[in-house]
Amino acid sequence: MFNIGNIYSKKGYKIIDNVYYFKETPTLDANNYIISNKDKTDLTLIDAGNGISFKSLIEEMEKLNLSYKNIKQVILTHIHVDHLLGIYPLLLKMKSTLPKIYAFGHAARTIKNADISAIFPGNLGIGPQTFKVKIIPIDVNELTNNQEISCADYKFRIIHTPGHSEGSICLYEQENKILISGDVVFSGGAFGRFDFPGGSLEKLKNSIRFLSQLDVKYLLPGHMNYSANGNKEIELALRIIESTANYFF
Ligand SMILES: [Zn+2]
Repeated sequence: MFNIGNIYSKKGYKIIDNVYYFKETPTLDANNYIISNKDKTDLTLIDAGNGISFKSLIEEMEKLNLSYKNIKQVILTHIHVDHLLGIYPLLLKMKSTLPKIYAFGHAARTIKNADISAIFPGNLGIGPQTFKVKIIPIDVNELTNNQEISCADYKFRIIHTPGHSEGSICLYEQENKILISGDVVFSGGAFGRFDFPGGSLEKLKNSIRFLSQLDVKYLLPGHMNYSANGNKEIELALRIIESTANYFF
């Protein structure tokens, strides 16, 4: 059994007005982002973490005067456990005032059908019990490529970016040059793994090539630090992945 430990403490930071970053805990967790309106009554949560870190996320939100009760929508960049599982405790906690859940394609269908074998593929040695969550079917709104979605006063464009995971998306906000990049591209020239089920090096290269054409100042990735040098980070990752051979298969 894979031991993920018990201590998950997040840290929350404001990046720019109404955009907040909750840094992942070190092991098998993901960064969360909150997009808010000015009076903090209309929140969008981007990625939900691994479920165990959920309690800490709520506490860190409270320190920034953000209440989980005001989460109106949750957008999942993809369905890997470290991004997805937090929605289950969130929905339990919110009971009657459920937020809308959004995901893309294969990811949306997997969540809708509570497809445990897709959420925990192969023999990774982890399952729902590892994260103390119960996987239940969820009503999911399926996103489409290029769709525009309002997150309080921001308008994000959904970009389908396969390669790390089949139903993987990035969210782009043109006016403030914000890219929420999930596990496609990170800061420091890093990019997502492509050896998980549904992964593809060629698709990941194409996705990062596409992202490199956007004007990005704030790169808000699913892991590691965010960056205010978005274009440079993406160009570096592109240079590295362009010279990467498919050594897994
Ligand atoms: Zn992932």
